[in-house]
Amino acid sequence: MNNNSTWQTGLVRSAGSPARLVFSLLLMMCLWPAQSWGVTQAEWVQTSRQVQSFDDLRPQLGALDWRPTTSDRALNFGLNNRPLWLRFEVPPENTSRVLDIAYPVLDHVDVYWVQDGEVIASFHTGDQLPFAQRPLHHRHFAFPLPRSDSPMMGYVRVQTEGSLQIPWRVTLSADFLADDQVSYGLQTIFTGAMLALALFNLLILFIVRDAAYGWYVLSILSNAMVQLTMNGLTFQWLWPGVPQINNLALVLFLSSSLVFVAGFTNSFLRLRHYGFWIAVIPRIIIVTGSILFVTAFILPYNVALFMVILAAFVASPVMFFLGVYSWWQGNVLARIYTAAWAVLLVGYTLQTLSKMALLPRTTWVEYSPQVGLMLEAVLLSFALAYRINLERRRRLAAQEEALMVQREANQMLEARVAERTLELELVNERLKAMAVTDGLTGIANRRRFDERLLSEWRRCARAQQPLSVLLVDIDYFKQVNDSLGHLTGDQCLIAVAALCDKLVSREGDLVARYGGEEFAVLLPGTDEQGAYCVAERLRQEVAGSPVNVEGINEPVKLTASIGVATLVPVNGVEPESLVQCADQALYAAKGAGRNQVQTFQDQDLSL
Ligand code: GH3
Ligand code: MG
Ligand code: MG
Repeated sequence: MNNNSTWQTGLVRSAGSPARLVFSLLLMMCLWPAQSWGVTQAEWVQTSRQVQSFDDLRPQLGALDWRPTTSDRALNFGLNNRPLWLRFEVPPENTSRVLDIAYPVLDHVDVYWVQDGEVIASFHTGDQLPFAQRPLHHRHFAFPLPRSDSPMMGYVRVQTEGSLQIPWRVTLSADFLADDQVSYGLQTIFTGAMLALALFNLLILFIVRDAAYGWYVLSILSNAMVQLTMNGLTFQWLWPGVPQINNLALVLFLSSSLVFVAGFTNSFLRLRHYGFWIAVIPRIIIVTGSILFVTAFILPYNVALFMVILAAFVASPVMFFLGVYSWWQGNVLARIYTAAWAVLLVGYTLQTLSKMALLPRTTWVEYSPQVGLMLEAVLLSFALAYRINLERRRRLAAQEEALMVQREANQMLEARVAERTLELELVNERLKAMAVTDGLTGIANRRRFDERLLSEWRRCARAQQPLSVLLVDIDYFKQVNDSLGHLTGDQCLIAVAALCDKLVSREGDLVARYGGEEFAVLLPGTDEQGAYCVAERLRQEVAGSPVNVEGINEPVKLTASIGVATLVPVNGVEPESLVQCADQALYAAKGAGRNQVQTFQDQDLSL
């Protein structure tokens, strides 16, 4: 130990960079020896199943081919169900000592302490016998050594249907206790960490309802149960009185952890996106694991165990490969998954190498699968947390996009609405214009004239200004219609309307078609004299502008009679009275021979 501490310290000191420090620590963990063994020399022999006890063995002692153990760390015979006998000499020692066999899943372990050819003490235990039958209530098989002044022999018979490994040592009870503190502490940390991770992710499962969390929790628990069973803790604490469960439990936990790890791999890496053949691999593992789980109840233990170990041996690298594959395919989360698997595989590899005696059997190597599993669980838990973040970011991006699309749609809708509103406004304007325009001549109609008459009446009343109205009526128009046709009459009406519209152009003036061939002219702010002038000009213009009509050789000669009325409007008097006055003047013009202007004469009406 002293020599070791020197180079260990050296290693740590020489570790300059963090990477080198980690490397040195890993190397230390692998090479740090457990306690040096108190007894190191032993011999072993395998006998037939008939040799049940030391009494059966005693007659053959001389004839048996005892072989020395090549290394105390490598007593590993694989799946071998023949009884194995181990014998070693124990020097006299006056302090309390213990024989410790640190592989708790052996079926039968019998120990005989022999002095001068006589058994002075014997113990019969194994994981096929109730826990209470153990001489020391410990998860390992631990046997007290009788105190003695002279040397004695230890004979150990081990028979098991599982893997035949005998990591044995004889040590001082004090050392055994001290080591056990460390070892039990590590088991506790392992159990606590796995439980905490499982519970934490179970709670997350309830909230996020993502299947990956369910698979994770189940695979954590089943893997932890495999390790705790291998270390004798499930038997000690969960079913100490029912040893029949022990063998079955190991196969059940192993096969279910195959199922759960494959389920986790599948849903965590979303393998269904990588094509049929990739997606089918975890399903094959799940089906295989499930079949192994069920057949464990039927098949002999050693066959079932062999098959499940074989399946795990094939499935573990396959699942590691799935991680690498989806990493290569660009799955960010696969990086953490692969790292987690790598850690676990390193753990199992170290343990396997030590079982094959290619690495020394040290405390750290012994715990490497548990350390690997713990690191794997932590890494995967981190990966799951990271996944939430990825999902959240993806969701945010999707939301943003949806919002943008919505905004664009809104803008488009608004533009369309504005466009339609404008169209409607234009149509409205047109309708409004149509409502106040005469269809034939295109000038204002009677309605427009009445509206303007009312508003100008009020305005001129306020401003005390004169307001004039001319009523223009074409003479003998009926004859035009009768002789030249109605359509020609229409053309004449259009021509006279255009003429009036052209002549009466002062701001505020209005020319309207008042009736059939009658036009009304509104002249706000124009006195009688001005109105007369306008009327006279109109009359001359009509008389001097014969209308050319298509299809008719002679231009149509027309004349008009015009009645003029002017007054300063007074509130309380109807504006229509002004039109009546103009009408009377028009009547007078017709009566006086037509083609002339007459002004309304009766001044009383303005009162
Ligand atoms: P006067 O006013 O000189 O007394 O004779 P007149 O022939 O013009 O008399 P009257 O008012 O009786 O006749 C008006 C005629 O105008 C009747 C109708 O045939 C014609 N007229 C009215 N509206 C229209 C129209 O929109 N188109 C055409 N072509 N003729 C119309
Ligand atoms: Mg008329
Ligand atoms: Mg007329």
